[in-house]
Amino acid sequence: MASEKGLAEIPMVMYEPYREPYMQEPSAPEYCGQERGYEYPSPPPYSCRETAPTEPPVYLVSQPPVILAGIFSSKPTSTICPSCRQHITTQVTYRLGKLSYLLCTTLCMLGCCFGCCFVPLFVRFFKDADHYCPCCHFHIYRYKRL
Ligand SMILES: [Zn+2]
Repeated sequence: MASEKGLAEIPMVMYEPYREPYMQEPSAPEYCGQERGYEYPSPPPYSCRETAPTEPPVYLVSQPPVILAGIFSSKPTSTICPSCRQHITTQVTYRLGKLSYLLCTTLCMLGCCFGCCFVPLFVRFFKDADHYCPCCHFHIYRYKRL
């Protein structure tokens, strides 16, 4: 025991200069520990920011009206013009389509070569119909027989 005290007293002088730097060292890890302690509560706001940037999808309000091809026939049809966006009744222009030429060819092959084969070319019922807007003359739709 006495020898230990004696040994302890001698090194006390030797350790003192070493203790001062040693006491400063543990202080540094404590600051690090405190900083780490403060860092833990900080992540939640970052996670909230990650979820926040979800921007709502931007929809274009000014989209042209969708043309429903099913409503068109060979007759004037009431619809909304995609160009001037007014509720209009289409103007119909008849023009030769596949059905007109097919009937003409068929009649010609059947022997009706005395002018009868050209009848389908003049009959509206066999022609395609182009729908135009009466206001801005925009070509809205072409109704095809075939
Ligand atoms: Zn129009």
